[in-house]
Amino acid sequence: MKPPPFRYFRPRSLEEALAQLEREEAKPLAGGQSLIPAMNFRLASPGALVDLNEVQELAGISDANGTVRIGAMTRHAAVERDARIANRVPLLRETMPHIAHPQIRSRGTIGGSLAHADPAAELPAVILALDASLVIRSTGGERRVEAGDFFTGLFATALEPGELVTAVEIPAAPARTGWAFEEFARRHGDYALVGVAVRVTLDPKGRCESCRIVLLSVGDGPVMARSAMRSLEGVDLAPDAIREAADRAGSADIDPPADIHASAVYRRQLARVLTRRALTRAAARASETRQ
Ligand SMILES: Cc1cc2nc3c(=O)[nH]c(=O)nc-3n(C[C@H](O)[C@H](O)[C@H](O)COP(=O)(O)OP(=O)(O)OC[C@H]3O[C@@H](n4cnc5c(N)ncnc54)[C@H](O)[C@@H]3O)c2cc1C
Repeated sequence: MKPPPFRYFRPRSLEEALAQLEREEAKPLAGGQSLIPAMNFRLASPGALVDLNEVQELAGISDANGTVRIGAMTRHAAVERDARIANRVPLLRETMPHIAHPQIRSRGTIGGSLAHADPAAELPAVILALDASLVIRSTGGERRVEAGDFFTGLFATALEPGELVTAVEIPAAPARTGWAFEEFARRHGDYALVGVAVRVTLDPKGRCESCRIVLLSVGDGPVMARSAMRSLEGVDLAPDAIREAADRAGSADIDPPADIHASAVYRRQLARVLTRRALTRAAARASETRQ
């Protein structure tokens, strides 16, 4: 199918884009990998699109004062290949190849993925595990929203009409931190049936000082496995403790949906297995950085 008619704007600056978004009550167009199919299927019918692809100031990666900043229009492929991301945010680097296929990663953007807030998407879970913030702009000014407050429901975010995500800011990881991303999809490149992003920080004695476990595809948005996280604080990340935390992540912490792709019971089992694997790898990496 073809989309219903819409007006189209292609601004060259952020100021112009924000003014058009406000004036035209338009939707931003980033990589178009989710919005254009939705329009073609007539699941979305915006009256106007503001294409962000010529707004140079929205793209790019920088690293200053311990914070890595990724512009909203930075393509998935650019994040995947960037040496600073590999060094400073290895959890993100490890995740990128799981997102769709290379063709889609060459067009899709980090801002588009976060604003779209698909519960099966990898990036919302990862930026929550990384304790990142989103920078949001409108003609009225700029505000920052922590990832934990940004995702408000199924395909829903804290964005107000006329607002754009302009960047994601990721704080430096503390010393003795390890990470891992795991997911299961029927075919590589498909949306995951379940996925999990884990980040653990050890104290000087090697016990778990803090831990983040965030699951995807098990709820309306990224889901923090809070009781599993609490169970690990202050303890050695030994196999028994990891197994218990993973069991909690797959039971008390989630209420996964059943659909044509997987039953709820199967998703719970995947959550257990993947969380155990991710915690085991993250703990080993954190121990290596302790030496
Ligand atoms: C076959 C296929 C498989 C895929 N598999 C996966 C997968 O496994 N995992 C995954 O995570 N994704 C997957 N995707 C989606 C892909 O990652 C998209 O790139 C992403 O969801 C949206 O990014 P985009 O830049 O294309 O955004 P667009 O499609 O342009 O926009 C998406 C939404 O975000 C809004 N938006 C865009 N940019 C901004 C901004 N800066 N500020 C505010 N709102 C904005 C738009 O108005 C729209 O509502 C897949 C897509 C396809 C077609």
